[in-house]
Amino acid sequence: MTFGEFDVIETYFTHRFAQRDDVQVSVGDDGAVVAIDPTEDLVVVTDTMVAGVHFDANTPARAIGHKILAVNLSDLAAMGAEPRWFSLALTLPEIDEEWLTGFSTGLKEMSEYYDCSLIGGDTTRGPLTITITAHGVVPKGKALLRSGAKPGDWIYVSHALGDAGLALAVQQKRLAIPDQHYRKVCERLFFPTPRVALGQSLRGIASSAIDISDGLLSDLGHILKASRVGARLSLDELPLSLPMTESLSQEQALQLALTSGDDYELCFTVPESQRGLFDTLVAHAATKPICIGRITSDLNRVVLELDGEPWQLPAGEQGYQHFAFSSERGHDGQS
Ligand SMILES: [Mg+2]
Repeated sequence: MTFGEFDVIETYFTHRFAQRDDVQVSVGDDGAVVAIDPTEDLVVVTDTMVAGVHFDANTPARAIGHKILAVNLSDLAAMGAEPRWFSLALTLPEIDEEWLTGFSTGLKEMSEYYDCSLIGGDTTRGPLTITITAHGVVPKGKALLRSGAKPGDWIYVSHALGDAGLALAVQQKRLAIPDQHYRKVCERLFFPTPRVALGQSLRGIASSAIDISDGLLSDLGHILKASRVGARLSLDELPLSLPMTESLSQEQALQLALTSGDDYELCFTVPESQRGLFDTLVAHAATKPICIGRITSDLNRVVLELDGEPWQLPAGEQGYQHFAFSSERGHDGQS
């Protein structure tokens, strides 16, 4: 059900975007045709962003274009996949040329940087909603899963946590921080960096992986459940940015780092036997993951320690529940 007097997808997107050589038929037919290598497995991910739920009206259009592809590429990274192609379903309340230009610019920057081609799309009229389905590849049998963690494996995160949650808390006037810090954390909320190269380098090394979209505890919980294990985290090791450490109390910073969503960092586990190889690999990498704990045999249980003492989150802090912009989030308003 296309609307408008011209084709939005062709006008703003396909004709402006670079295409990979392996795209045989792109937008313009009933479906796309891409060439697949028989030595590879196809990894398919999808993510939706809804205005008023995942972003508010003040979010720049370019940031929305960047982020909707970034969150999909982050899922591909968590699977160890190399991005290849994506399709876009765009539901728009109206044809706003300025918004479409900004949005398609953010999307194009990500698409071209990660060499992931737009191969299909559809526009409908309705409340602003954006869905991307992205496709990536891994060598056969090499996809990173949530289910492979074993007791004794080391737990890593790819980068500082909590910045996006801090930006959101300031936006919603739940916290106040200096302007220069706010600008930095807004960059992290609006323009997250999917850890695509790191994810691919973890193939054959990490025993499990996930990307942190809903908060570390919540997403690590998915690994623990799928792998039937527990975890012990040393909160002294949790990587925190300067805006976090300089403008918040330790408790506020830890709460955000553990429970706020939208960071799109990777959380993964490395067996002791692979640690030497892993250390060599990250010695030369742009992203330096940080070891924050260890997997235990204690099914689904997470033990938090600070300065060698047990530490607990205030009750009710369990991770982002996809109501960030609704009044229902009032109960955990201080996070
Ligand atoms: Mg994910």
